Amino acid sequence: NLPSMGRSNDPSFINKMKNSNRNVVVFYGSQTGTAEEFAGRLAKDALRYGMKGMVADPEECEMEELSSLATIENSLAIFCLATYGEGDPTDNSQEFYDWLQTGDADLSGVKYAIFGLGNKTYEHYNAMGIYVDKRLEELGGTRVYECGLGDDDANIEEDFVTWREKFWPAVCEQYGVESVGEDISMRQYSLTIHDEIEKEKVFSGETARLGSFRTQKPPYDTKNPYLAPVQVNRELHKGGDRSCMHIEFDITGSRLRYEAGDHVAVFPINDPEIVENIGKQLGVDLDQVMTLTNVDEEASKKHPFPCPTSYRTALSHYLDITHHPRTHVLKELADYANEKDSAFLKKMATASDEGKELYLSWIVADGRTILHVLEDLPSLKPPIDHLCELLPRLQARYYSISSSPKAYPNSIHITAVLIEWSTKTGRVRKGVATNWLKLKQPTNGIKPTVPIFVRKSQFRLPFKPSVPVMMIGPGTGFAPFRGFIQDRNAAREQGKPIGETVLYFGCRNKSEDYIYEDEITNYKENGTLSKVYEAFSRDQEKKIYVQNVLAQNQEEVWKLLESGAHIYVCGDARNMAPDVQRVIHDIIETQGNMDKDKASQYIKKLQNKGRYSCDVWS
Ligand code: FAD
Ligand code: NAP
Repeated sequence: NLPSMGRSNDPSFINKMKNSNRNVVVFYGSQTGTAEEFAGRLAKDALRYGMKGMVADPEECEMEELSSLATIENSLAIFCLATYGEGDPTDNSQEFYDWLQTGDADLSGVKYAIFGLGNKTYEHYNAMGIYVDKRLEELGGTRVYECGLGDDDANIEEDFVTWREKFWPAVCEQYGVESVGEDISMRQYSLTIHDEIEKEKVFSGETARLGSFRTQKPPYDTKNPYLAPVQVNRELHKGGDRSCMHIEFDITGSRLRYEAGDHVAVFPINDPEIVENIGKQLGVDLDQVMTLTNVDEEASKKHPFPCPTSYRTALSHYLDITHHPRTHVLKELADYANEKDSAFLKKMATASDEGKELYLSWIVADGRTILHVLEDLPSLKPPIDHLCELLPRLQARYYSISSSPKAYPNSIHITAVLIEWSTKTGRVRKGVATNWLKLKQPTNGIKPTVPIFVRKSQFRLPFKPSVPVMMIGPGTGFAPFRGFIQDRNAAREQGKPIGETVLYFGCRNKSEDYIYEDEITNYKENGTLSKVYEAFSRDQEKKIYVQNVLAQNQEEVWKLLESGAHIYVCGDARNMAPDVQRVIHDIIETQGNMDKDKASQYIKKLQNKGRYSCDVWS
């Protein structure tokens, strides 16, 4: 048997708590790892108050047992719950959410608190945290402190730290406990060095199963991605200083299935130069093979990432080394710097206004990564294993699939803008996945590979091609619509009746970043696209955006809506999607002769019927 990411598999969290004398359980609903990280920090905090906490994944627990939590003296359940997509639970909290919705458990005597993780640029801000907070109370639970809401669009770390600073004193008061002193800084993982170990036993980037890249076996998912050969990687922009890639993954024989509108996840690798420089800053041998093992035997996570592995692999494949390091990382690292630097790091990690401001300016506004912190505070020399323990996991990046299996059954296409920017300290920062993908060029018949899996989405064309559709997608927001149009084109070629198919596309300049212009023109000529409206924002003095064109076409938009059309919006979540929705709201008000409330209800109804769908990101 090959070793895998060992997990203790007793689904009874109550047993686990009782066996290890714990009274605090922190559940997490996490999609990108932040909620899990916050849960870990809260569980660790408990020690400061003479309580004992553990982290738990609701997917691996019998959540029905929640009603027996009160059988443990002085017990508390904390939930760190992220909201995903259109107000949905994360994958690992889906079952728990279903259970809460349908069940009628009696939670009297169960004490709980919630910290929600959301993003204000999305419509259903923190829907999960808010729902669970309310539902647990309805089922008889007792809220020990008000629900915290973190906004990932602003500074979720600050929201969390601020909430936590008030949450624990509330717990102290209700449980009659008090802080047993300063923060307890404790290593969570112990280090084992492997000087002589066979290569086959060492993880080299696999996400969960050792050897999964050597012997590929479907089904493919987040724990077992498919190494997809890149058969095409070409530039879509015709000019300007930005780059947008059209990439085709070959899925021949893989048994991967997808539909237009789905997402594909890509597992990137960090820039080797950054990894090398971290090694140099710390003066370590990056090729040393090691294992980090949780000192808590009851913990659900035995290792922070697949082990044994080398530091180089950990920093390249498993750890996020480019986002802003969080305050708790800075605090723990402070022990390894001289007095001055240590005081500086500790100050940034405090919840005081001064501390928060310092963190916001020195880390966030200046765009410092962990490497920049090490470079700018030369006395800071943490042991590399401790650094590896503290950094969060590197996350897969999602892309809207820009093809349809009806046109391309053997490949999955994506359309990705290269991310690069300069920071205030004069450093160039590069998006991890897009810059790594840029290098994946097939040459001389050799196709480089990329670990991927397909994530089903709700973003779907109406079942009948005769239903009219309106697609609004400026920039890379066009990606899923390329798949939709290929779908409708296939139906048209089969002689099926096609409803009106209207596209609103926008970009900066017609001559530079009008992606897939030839294809769009062809589909217009062959009748698959009934209408194409364009908005070139920078081709004239005054900006023109897709929503300006929508407003000009309001009679037509209203007619389409009234004829049962489905509206789709894709691309920027922060500004474009809400701006577009406002204009559609206005059109409904004016053309439909409705007041504000009625128009809002009209949109709600469209959304509930799946006739107004968004695929947006920020
Ligand atoms: P990262 O290393 O993750 O860096 C990006 C981060 O850097 C940003 O989150 C931001 O915090 C920061 N940043 C970026 N620019 C700046 C700046 N100018 N100043 C300061 N900070 C900055 N992307 C596409 O290109 N095409 C798609 O079709 C697509 N579809 C998506 C679908 C979904 C459901 C989701 C969630 C995302 C989608 N994305 C898409 C975005 C994609 O997942 C990645 O976020 C994007 O490619 C950047 O990844 P990266 O690893 O290169 O950058
Ligand atoms: P883009 O080329 O920057 O923008 C496409 C078009 O949309 C441009 O004409 C742009 O105009 C216009 N636009 C700007 N603001 C708008 C608004 N409020 N309403 C309607 N149109 C607007 O787009 P992209 O590079 O393809 O990316 C699409 C979006 O996804 C971006 O806005 C970005 O926020 C997001 N994105 C994020 C990441 C990430 O790293 N998280 C990665 C890729 C994309 P002007 O620029 O001239 O104003």
